Order: sequence, then structure tokens, then C-alpha cells
Amino acid sequence: MKWLGRISTALLGLIVFVAGKKFFRDYELLVMSKYDIEEMQEEIRQMDSEPYMDLRGTPTHICVCGSDAFYLRATFKDFEIATYMLDMQCANCGSLATAPTPIDYKQD
Ligand SMILES: [Zn+2]
Repeated sequence: MKWLGRISTALLGLIVFVAGKKFFRDYELLVMSKYDIEEMQEEIRQMDSEPYMDLRGTPTHICVCGSDAFYLRATFKDFEIATYMLDMQCANCGSLATAPTPIDYKQD
């Protein structure tokens, strides 16, 4: 009966070795301290409360997310837009962007 115990131990060792090899091939282990996790959760909360990106600076018609609809402040006169502010926010992802103006139009 002693040989049966050795064979079963060898088989169990082989199974653990193969399973461990597959686990470390398919997954990566990341060890983090609780302080790092709390700090990362706080950063995620801050990102959720702010617009996703600040893309202001270069006038654009399309956001990086592909949307061409924006929220912006405008004034009206005679049923048309008379003035609009240059800061706008993407209606899809919430990123801040700069509204284009006729001066920005480049003719080739
Ligand atoms: Zn967007």
C-alpha cells in the first residue's frame, strides 16, 4: 500500500504543477497595499465627477469620441444664433473642447 500513496502523491503533484503552470500563463498577479487601493478609488471618484478630458485649445467640429454634438452657451437675435461662447462640452462623453469659428477656417 505504500506504493499507492507514492503514486497518488506524484499524480497530485503533477496536477498541481500543470494547473499552476496554466494559471501563471493565463493570469498575472498584482499585489497592492490597501493604501494604494484606497488612493486609486479616490482618483476614480474624482475622474467620475469631472469631465473626461480637457481638449480645449484647438477648435474642433468632432470630439475624440466621434460625437459632433456639443453643449455650449449662445445668445440669439432675430431667431438666429448671434453669439456663442468658445468653451463647449461634448454631449456624448462630457469632454471639454473649443468651438470652431469662421476665423479658424483654413482655405487651401
Ligand atoms: Zn466626446
